[in-house]
Order: sequence, then C-alpha cells, then structure tokens
Amino acid sequence: MDETTPEPTDERLRTAFQLLASETRLEILHALWNAPEWTATFSELKEAVGMRDSGQFQYHLNELTGTFVRRTEDGYAHLAGGIALYRAMLGSVAGPETVDSIPLGDVCPACDEELELAYENQVFYARCSACGETVLSSPFPPAGLENRTDEGRLRAFDRWTRRLIGLLGDGVCPWCASTVTHELSTDSTDGSPRSVRITHACDRCGGFLRTTAGENVVDHPAVVAFFYERGVDITEIPHWELDFCTSDEGVELVSEDPLEVLLTVEESGDTVTISLDEEMRAREIDRSSFGARSDGSRDP
Ligand SMILES: [Zn+2]
Ligand SMILES: [Zn+2]
Repeated sequence: MDETTPEPTDERLRTAFQLLASETRLEILHALWNAPEWTATFSELKEAVGMRDSGQFQYHLNELTGTFVRRTEDGYAHLAGGIALYRAMLGSVAGPETVDSIPLGDVCPACDEELELAYENQVFYARCSACGETVLSSPFPPAGLENRTDEGRLRAFDRWTRRLIGLLGDGVCPWCASTVTHELSTDSTDGSPRSVRITHACDRCGGFLRTTAGENVVDHPAVVAFFYERGVDITEIPHWELDFCTSDEGVELVSEDPLEVLLTVEESGDTVTISLDEEMRAREIDRSSFGARSDGSRDP
C-alpha cells in the first residue's frame, strides 16, 4: 500500500474499536445482545442502560449505528458483525488456558514417535512428542475445551479443522469471509524428504493455515467414494489418522507455477489419483486396481 494514501480499512477498524471505548455504548451493545432477537426499542434500551438524558443516549446510539447496530422500524438491532464480536469473545473468555496434551494414537511421519495434541495460545497443535514436527494446527476457542472429555476434544478439533480447511480451500476465509490466496512451499530440511505444503491466507484479515495436499482432497467425492467402496468411511476418521493427510506419501509435484500437484492414495491395494491446481480445484484423474500405477506417470 502506498504510504501517502490513507488506509481506509485501518481507519474504519480503529474507529470501530474506538466506538467500544465508552461504557454507555458497551451497555447498549450488551442490552441488545440480551434482547429477544437482538432487537429493542429506544426506550427499552434507554431503560436497560439506565441513562436519563435522551439526547446523550441518542448520540451514543447514532455512533454505534452502521458499525455494530442498525436502525429498524421499531428501534434498534445488532448487526451480524456486532453479534459475531460477542460470539468471538464468548468463545475466547471461557474455558481453560491450557490443557494436558492428548495422545493422538498415531505416529509422526518424520520419526515414528507418538503424535500428541497440544494446546497453546488458543491454538491446537498435532505434533510429535519427540522431534517437534507439527502435522496439523488450527486456532480453537478455549470455550470448546469445556464440558468435553479428551475424546470429545479430539473429535471437536478434527471437525473444526476440517471445516476451516474446507472453507479456505474453497476460497472463503472462515474468519471474515474474504477471498483467499493459496501459496505453495516446498520445504527440504537436511535429511528429511522434500515436503509440499500449501499456505491458504486471507487477503483481508491475514488469517492463514498451512495444509498438506491430502488435507485439500480429503472431502472430495472421488476420495470419499473410493474409500467408501472399500468399506472405509473416511468422513468419520480423524484426519491425523489418514496417512495421506499428514505426510507427503503419494504426493507428486508436477509444476510449481502454475501449481499442479498429484496425489495418489492407496487403499486395499487399489489407488486413486487426484490432481490439485492453484485454485485448490481437485479432480480425479485416475483410478487403478492393485497398484497398477507404479511408475508415477500421469495419464492424459
Ligand atoms: Zn517426530
Ligand atoms: Zn479473513
């Protein structure tokens, strides 16, 4: 961004936060949050907030209008953004700050030691207890840790992460709904194999997640059907237990620019090959029985 040009988004963001620096306005938002269908009349709000001066009260309501509140025929209602703010905070201010790591019952693709799920800074990390390799990570509100057993937390993390990856892969930011850019990186640290990772980053809020090729095709109908036809419902298997989601096994980098990755997944001796492009569009390009595609070649 050109330094001489004012940044309208930043300005609007600062203004929105400044609006919250008023006890009266916070009281108004709180009253609306607790009102039926997040809607209340002027006098209901005024009474809930306990302010006598109508002029002053109207001023604060006007300030909020357009950013957190909208005017209705009978009064005022929370805008969806105002409700989302409350929900984000409710997810964030509840629950424990840390929990003990939970064994994932699966091994690290890098060193074969046990993987565990750790929780730090409101982010879940599925990582190796020995070498520190992180196979999956995603932000998770601490409220989601409450009232759940370890088993329930594992399931919630799996479901939550799949939804995040699904939306990001579809080009919709799960945090602010803006557009998403996908970028390929190929890491190669000493001795370890070259790994293909895709970083999905929101063009507006900067929210991002790094995924494997496999995580981007785990919900593709060809992959789900391929397993289902062989008696395996992968929609019910946590994705850290699916080897093609946590490792680069079967991944072939055809081209870096434009991005094209092939992923061959095996089950019961059969394989399915999926191609993934720079827009994260996945399509089945081959299906073979008994590992016929052993040369890694690409079919027309
Ligand atoms: Zn390891
Ligand atoms: Zn975003």
